[in-house]
Formats: sequence, structure tokens, C-alpha cells
Amino acid sequence: MPDQPIPDQSPDLRVRLDRTLCDGFGFCAERAPTYFPLDDWGYASLEGDGRVPAADRDHVHRALLDCPVHAIIEMRPDED
Ligand code: SF4
Repeated sequence: MPDQPIPDQSPDLRVRLDRTLCDGFGFCAERAPTYFPLDDWGYASLEGDGRVPAADRDHVHRALLDCPVHAIIEMRPDED
């Protein structure tokens, strides 16, 4: 029997961005630019609904960890 590819079991990540906390450091845009575009003043917004597929998880999680003001927040699976 041929080897079957092992599906990626890592769960999707869900994040939200609290723009009231963002101080425009821009680290998130460096780590995950398609998720955190910056406006003309350097403040981030969140592109999309915050759902991050496994393929992008590491980049977005890095952005979350590196945000100095913790403006990127991981959502619980049951949180809306
Ligand atoms: S890293 Fe944090 S403070 Fe900096 S732009 Fe992104 S969300 Fe804002």
C-alpha cells in the first residue's frame, strides 16, 4: 500500500486585533504582511476575519508574540 500523506493536524489559529492598543511599531506587518497591512500612519489593521490556516500559522503567531503592546490576541475556539 502506498504511503498516504499525513494531513496537517495543527488547528487553525484565530486572532483579533485591538486597534486601540496598536502603537504602530509595525512588527506584525514584517512578520505577516498579508494579515496586518499598515495604514499611512503605520498603524495595523487585520485583513480578513482573523482565521489563519495552518500554513500561515507560524507567521501570524510570530506577529502575535512580537507585538510589544499585545494588540494581537488569540481567540478561543468558542469565542465570537
Ligand atoms: S506590532 Fe502591534 S503595535 Fe505594532 S503595528 Fe502591529 S499591532 Fe500595532
